[in-house]
Amino acid sequence: MARPTVTFLGGVREIGGNKILVEDGPDRILFDFGPSFSPRYEQYFVDYLKPRSTSPVQDLLEFGLLPRVEGLYSEEALADADLGWKPPEIHGVFVSHAHADHAGYLGLLDPSIPVHVGPGTKDVLDAIQRSSPSMRYGDHDWRTFADRQPVRVGGLEVVPYPVDHSVPFAYGFLIRTSEGTIAYTGDFRQHGPRAEDTRTFLTAAAEERPAALLIEGTRAGPDPRKNLSEEGVRRGVDRILEHHPDLALACTYPRDLDRLRTLTEAARAADRSLVVSTRTAHLLTSLAGRYPELDLPLPGADGGPLVYARKKKRFFSWEAPFLDTALSAAEVRTRGRRYLLALDLAHFPELIDLRPPTGSPFIHSMSEPFSEDDVDDKVMHNWLEHFGLGFHQMHASGHASGRELDAIVRSVGARAVFPIHTEHPEAFLRPSRSVTLPEVGVPYPLRDASGGH
Ligand SMILES: [Zn+2]
Repeated sequence: MARPTVTFLGGVREIGGNKILVEDGPDRILFDFGPSFSPRYEQYFVDYLKPRSTSPVQDLLEFGLLPRVEGLYSEEALADADLGWKPPEIHGVFVSHAHADHAGYLGLLDPSIPVHVGPGTKDVLDAIQRSSPSMRYGDHDWRTFADRQPVRVGGLEVVPYPVDHSVPFAYGFLIRTSEGTIAYTGDFRQHGPRAEDTRTFLTAAAEERPAALLIEGTRAGPDPRKNLSEEGVRRGVDRILEHHPDLALACTYPRDLDRLRTLTEAARAADRSLVVSTRTAHLLTSLAGRYPELDLPLPGADGGPLVYARKKKRFFSWEAPFLDTALSAAEVRTRGRRYLLALDLAHFPELIDLRPPTGSPFIHSMSEPFSEDDVDDKVMHNWLEHFGLGFHQMHASGHASGRELDAIVRSVGARAVFPIHTEHPEAFLRPSRSVTLPEVGVPYPLRDASGGH
């Protein structure tokens, strides 16, 4: 019988865009289904030039930005495509976590293909979908899995292990095939609040002597960006709040709930309140009650974040619970020393109303740009300069460092290693002699224990 194979339909020499096909006899399952943002997508599409919503698959297939796979996409997504609709030939999709580069194209899949997610991931995706009209994950046969409980799909068995990442509810998977186990890390780190989860996953992976390790390498290779731990971010923010008596501003990734907790606590320790957008408040409110173990800050609770109401022509029903008590720009401006305001880059025009005093701190709590000619970064600095704000870089990455990745590859000891979700797969050649630098669309058969194919 043919050996099980792994095929990378995205996530090759790029950060994000993971789409991994595992085939074993008649069984075919996918891991993650997210867009390739950078650098390939950006060669053809930018903010003002997007795939048409009437023919999304066709427009992305044109540039090889989606895989040409039959029995995968919905009839609707295939409108006007030269790839015809066929009944599903994929038996399940497993989503490692709720970041866009892993889950963002779920809306294109045929609705009858089961989509397996952690319950928390489903809740995050639902909250995002309710509060962001442009995000559509689609209707699916959703199946929620439990931590470390095997899920059977045909002859395959998938065991989801929670791992630490910059969004909660992230998973790595052990995929048991007819010829050994495949370990897929998803995105992961071991310096965050759930580092222990990552260690448990890696230990379980090593114990199965996996036939293949599919490992993310966001920070592999040359990475000049500085990285703090979550406690390091906390200490840095404490220092800034101590030295600046006026309004302080910060920006974070919208789903980095660990960071929102850190900022809430730092603000509270400095006799301030964190102030968040209605969208962030909606996400926190949707999750806080259901996942008490995450200790999420609850908007409106004692010591919890306050909510900022931007000037808007219309408010949505999900925003309604926050509007009565929400702060306006004038309130934040007049009592700036009481607040740490989380302000997304997209909402920078609020600065025109907020008028923070010159020298007020702006804490950039996201990763530094990959390249020096990053347009968004230039625009952000133009705004900061215009308003005379002080820039402070403070971030704990969602990803393991290059050095940690080397040690992980050695300790898992897989027969074959496939670096993905990285621009520098060759950096993995150093720690392991069993590295394959994968190519898009090539099925790689699993090696058996004797080393043969
Ligand atoms: Zn991620």
